[in-house]
Amino acid sequence: MSPGSPLLLPNGAYVFQKLQDFLRAQYPQFGYKEVITPTIYKKSLWEKSGHWENYAEDMFSVQGRGATGRTENAQAGEDEEFGLKPMNCPGHCLLFWGEGELKSYRELPVRYADFSALHRNEISGSLTGLTRVRRFHQDDAHIFCRPDQILSEIQQTLRFVGMVYDTFNLGPYKLLLSTRPEEHYIGTLEEWNRAEEQLTSALNNSGREWAINEGDGAFYGPKIDIILKDATGKEHQTATIQLDFQLPQRFDLQYQASPEELEVGPISAGDKNIDSSCRRPVIVHRAIYGSLERFMALLIEHYNGNFPFWLSPRPALIMTLNQTPQVLEYATRVQSALAGISGLSHPSDAREGTEIKPTPQQLSATHLPIDIDSSARALGKKFHEARTKKYNHVIVVGTEEVKSQTVRLQITNQTNDGTVTKIISEVLGRPLTEKDDKNGNISVGVTVEEARRYFLRLVEGFL
Ligand SMILES: [Zn+2]
Repeated sequence: MSPGSPLLLPNGAYVFQKLQDFLRAQYPQFGYKEVITPTIYKKSLWEKSGHWENYAEDMFSVQGRGATGRTENAQAGEDEEFGLKPMNCPGHCLLFWGEGELKSYRELPVRYADFSALHRNEISGSLTGLTRVRRFHQDDAHIFCRPDQILSEIQQTLRFVGMVYDTFNLGPYKLLLSTRPEEHYIGTLEEWNRAEEQLTSALNNSGREWAINEGDGAFYGPKIDIILKDATGKEHQTATIQLDFQLPQRFDLQYQASPEELEVGPISAGDKNIDSSCRRPVIVHRAIYGSLERFMALLIEHYNGNFPFWLSPRPALIMTLNQTPQVLEYATRVQSALAGISGLSHPSDAREGTEIKPTPQQLSATHLPIDIDSSARALGKKFHEARTKKYNHVIVVGTEEVKSQTVRLQITNQTNDGTVTKIISEVLGRPLTEKDDKNGNISVGVTVEEARRYFLRLVEGFL
């Protein structure tokens, strides 16, 4: 039983992993290091971070059961109370501290990205599908930077958001800046003003529509929310960029200040426990998808189930015209080739008595989940089902195709604004004729190698 957390079948898991893979592929160019951090931490950590005081009702606690009734050799702490993490920030603060020596101002910013599972104790009445769950994953990251780096970090993050949303064809979206609350806030007025000025500049430079939510920031820092409009005009809050002056204090994070920073003089009042040659970093909490589960739900609606090829859990279905052994065998070979499986040509090749030697697959290999329908049903029925299941392509193989070592490639659910047609014609090295393209219904005879090249072009183009 899994109360309040979605079970993802292979198709869903495929999309989930593609979403992670996509972001992971972007991290190096934005200077992120991906980290893996624990799921449970001692209660004392949550006390330090302030979660135990302010967020306990939304957390799950876990009781260690070890020490009860043990001998005196039992180690202390085994029956301590733990908390399942609802957020990654405290763990990342430990990493920042624990990575080694006191960091110099030159080593900042430090950017940690983390796809860990998070748990929040939502009331059961509020749980819905993929959008509100108790166990979920964020594309979470924390940037530890100097106060004078806020502008460039926010600009960079906004560019990152723009690039990601453009790739998924999401938008338009607007940006919303929440500023310092009137009364209850930590840090000095100057710190807030400087931070808000930098956020404002970043928003002005973004070229996007943005608005201000005066006084609506958290007590620990201002933030920018990204509000996405879906096809029906409904607004969704997805990405967040949140500044934080508080956690660095709670975790006593420091870095060796620069000569310029030392010249400006002592740091803010109310934060006296800091070495005079050091300063505190600012933390930027940021998520671009937000919750991956929720983002998936949004994409399913946004694409109306017609996922673009590169993200599609059903990119192509091979359909056999008959059940002769030659056709069936050819279909599995086509499947391996199109799926990008090298070495062992296909698990179904593993006949009794044959020895099959597996080879390590290349890390960069593009594997596609290509299915086969070799049932004896009428072709019309098979096609209807393929369309209903939103396969992007149908690959037909029959006796003729075995003879000519080709396949018939048909586009069933792939968005084609002319780009796809152009790619096919480039791969074939000839313009498509009326025979290949009947009023946008593309059905073209290609070699298996050409079909695979065409698929790779779709993946490369995020089409
Ligand atoms: Zn955080």
